[in-house]
Amino acid sequence: MNFSKKSQEHLDACRFCWMCRHICPIGNATGQERNTSRARALGLSLVSRGAVEYSEDIINNVYECALCGACVKECVTGWDPVMFTKEARLGAALDGKLPPYVLKMVQAALESGNIYGAKLDEKLAGKIRGLGKSKTLLFLGADARYKTPDNAGEAIDLLQKLGADFTALENEPDSAYGLDFLVGATSETKAAAETCAATLNGYKRVVCYDPADAKTFKREYKEWGVDVKYSVLTFTEYLDIILSDKKIKKSDLVFTPQDSPILARDLEETEPVRRILSKIGSVSEMLLNRRDTMLAGNLVMNEYMPAVMERVAADRWINAKNVGAKILVTESPAEYALLKKTKPADLDVLTIEEAIAKCL
Ligand code: SF4
Ligand code: SF4
Repeated sequence: MNFSKKSQEHLDACRFCWMCRHICPIGNATGQERNTSRARALGLSLVSRGAVEYSEDIINNVYECALCGACVKECVTGWDPVMFTKEARLGAALDGKLPPYVLKMVQAALESGNIYGAKLDEKLAGKIRGLGKSKTLLFLGADARYKTPDNAGEAIDLLQKLGADFTALENEPDSAYGLDFLVGATSETKAAAETCAATLNGYKRVVCYDPADAKTFKREYKEWGVDVKYSVLTFTEYLDIILSDKKIKKSDLVFTPQDSPILARDLEETEPVRRILSKIGSVSEMLLNRRDTMLAGNLVMNEYMPAVMERVAADRWINAKNVGAKILVTESPAEYALLKKTKPADLDVLTIEEAIAKCL
């Protein structure tokens, strides 16, 4: 496969480095050198020079990256492994070399509108049908709709309780986040984005429950030239606005934010969650917080490397224990699902809406 000049430059810089090896949540979970930016760059640089085939093993290695950006943030010389890893995925798709576990999800997205090939939970569908019309759309996203529907339902309940004017869609279109994660900007990914924007352009404001969708709308759609007429807010930003003029009795609960890498690094949003948690209780911090946060799970990768994803979440619980945290609060449905699955008996994890609901 051929890399762009820019990616080639970044690959060549990374391949003999290794300075960010300690920061990769996947590398820390597997303990394997192959899960470092440097090892991935080394393999891909050999492919780019025609020295080795773009083999199954190298392609699998490309899919072992969570695209969490911790290495990019850590790199003092400004190199970007996320960029060349995404380009390598796009190359695998264009060369017809996608691994079967990726192909399955891509086909599911094209056939059913979500990479999980899942149907909407009936209870959640009923809740959505009960909502009125509004110019503000709560966009739930594939992870929440198909993997954590109870959370999506609780988000709707909370907004109703707070008197928010919003609606949601039973037939919500695919944001294309999953496709972008798996294969990058293919024509299929861009077509899904165009279809989604065509529906969402009928709204004035789109509130994204999942940070991954907010990032896709704000960054990727812009890059792909997709026409977006609505403004995009994250769910936490929206809650922060709604709660700003509400009086809430402060509880004695101590919350520790688990910053989503997408929110903290890609969208540079770290303070709304802290404002909310300080209003309803108090905040204690993880050692690696805000832009330095560590990923606690990814549900797309959980489809093909579940044991590693559980280890990633378990590692974050170790971090939480080390700082004496009691309640982790997450804004990501993916991180919630994996933190919940691996939760130590004496600690707790809450979504931001659960934390608020506890204190109302
Ligand atoms: S991202 Fe930076 S620190 Fe990490 S391997 Fe590449 S050059 Fe080194
Ligand atoms: S983007 Fe994240 S998962 Fe991928 S190599 Fe960098 S730190 Fe590791």
